[in-house]
Amino acid sequence: AELPERLSSRVLHNADCLAGMPALVDGEVRWSYAELGREIRAAAEWLDALGVRPGDRIMTVSENSRALVALLLAASESNVWVAIVNSRLSAPEIDAIRDNCQPRRVFYTSEASPDADAHGLRHGAEIYDHPSLGRLRLSAQVEVEPEPVAASGADQVAAMIYTSGTTGTPKGVMLTHRGILYIASLSGGMRHLGPGERVYGVLPMSHVFGLSSVCMGSLYNGACLYTVPRFEAAAMLEALEQERITVLQGVPAMFARTLEFLRRERRPLVAPELRYISAGGSPLDGDLKRRVQALFGLTLHNGYGLTEASPTISQTRIDDCFDNNTVGRVLPLLEYRLEALDEGGENEPNHMGAGELWVRGPNVMKGYFRQPAATRACLTEEGWLNTGDIARFDEDDQLYIVGRSKELIIRSGFNIYPPDVEAVINEHPDVTLSAVVGRQVEGNEEVVAFIQCEPASTVSEAALREFIAERLAPYKRPTQLVLMDVLPATASGKILKGRLRDLASREGNA
Ligand code: ATP
Repeated sequence: AELPERLSSRVLHNADCLAGMPALVDGEVRWSYAELGREIRAAAEWLDALGVRPGDRIMTVSENSRALVALLLAASESNVWVAIVNSRLSAPEIDAIRDNCQPRRVFYTSEASPDADAHGLRHGAEIYDHPSLGRLRLSAQVEVEPEPVAASGADQVAAMIYTSGTTGTPKGVMLTHRGILYIASLSGGMRHLGPGERVYGVLPMSHVFGLSSVCMGSLYNGACLYTVPRFEAAAMLEALEQERITVLQGVPAMFARTLEFLRRERRPLVAPELRYISAGGSPLDGDLKRRVQALFGLTLHNGYGLTEASPTISQTRIDDCFDNNTVGRVLPLLEYRLEALDEGGENEPNHMGAGELWVRGPNVMKGYFRQPAATRACLTEEGWLNTGDIARFDEDDQLYIVGRSKELIIRSGFNIYPPDVEAVINEHPDVTLSAVVGRQVEGNEEVVAFIQCEPASTVSEAALREFIAERLAPYKRPTQLVLMDVLPATASGKILKGRLRDLASREGNA
């Protein structure tokens, strides 16, 4: 079907058709679709009064909230781009993004993050008590160059998401109305979303899974979105029970923390109307998947994508039969191809036929904002995006992510995919999380494993080594094991492998 022109179109349409149906719950505040529609229109007027013009960029530093939803949709109505920034970033990280983005105004809707607040203060942002959006901090207006406004809305940039930067400096990914709406509309079909459904919006909207799939997926399809400022297992479990949440999308780390919480508290799970759970955003460990499914009594769906693809590339479908670690089938309208890896390295029998995955389609980004060289490095003139992931397909067209090309370890000519090694280490009952990286040594690479154990664990390095040796071919075994209390991770729970690679090389030189 034809997609509407902009993010706000369908939501405003819902404001008429589903007027009395619940649209959004933010703590104590509950908005129907009619109320949401009014708030979007009022916020669009407010933006105008604040000097924000079509083609301008604004920046929000925010956790999930009604203010963020209203600002996003108001901006979309007014042809304004929104850079959505995670309020949990440090002040220097927010600075780096602001320097690249050059927004007309910055809205800090965060009360939770001292860093965001410090950043706001440093840039002269003042407290503003908005009658319906709540307390905000608002930066002064800055003279900036607006972007040209496209005649047709759909190909225009709607939002910029700065990549979480597990592999380098943050880049502003320009996402179009069409791209986000494409994912939002499919999200409805793939999860059977519609009026009456209650979606727990805990994935941050500053991350594109939270933005397109959860937030826009809910509002586009007439479901009710719960805006959750940050993940807390106790609060989530309460909502599953009291608010009778029906749909829960998370990252693997969130599910792991929920299991851990219930075990520690010796509590059962009470989720009377939950019918759909899904993970995405980072590799899903097989053992975790089994434990989550056993606890919830539901299939744990898996979706794969990246910021540059708004984000979804593949998703397991409700009607498909699968019990392995597939990330599902590729979305319709997306073209894809696998490119051969470097000659000579492909000797891993389990991954025959694996290659670097390229995609082209309506959800591929426009590019990185004001970074043409970085854009050219992953996006061709013809619109093909290099995902940087190594993938393979089975005979049923199910997709499997084998690893990332930039994280592939080549040791004495053998390819080692970190997820294979991590999966084995994670099987150890004391291990909560592991991350495997390569370390350059004299023209070769070594394997270094960073391991996080249960707080009460007393397992020794020797015992872990023995456990690994029983299960892994010698060339895959880590040269070094580093036990850490907590592995460094982004706000969404993704392990910062770049930082671990630096650490591994420093350890190697020590
Ligand atoms: P940067 O692009 O700066 O490295 P990042 O990798 O954290 O940051 P994202 O776009 O958030 O940026 O992450 C996308 C990557 O996450 C994918 O390329 C893939 O490697 C991994 N990924 C996402 N979903 C899955 C999944 N379901 N299974 C396995 N890997 C996944």
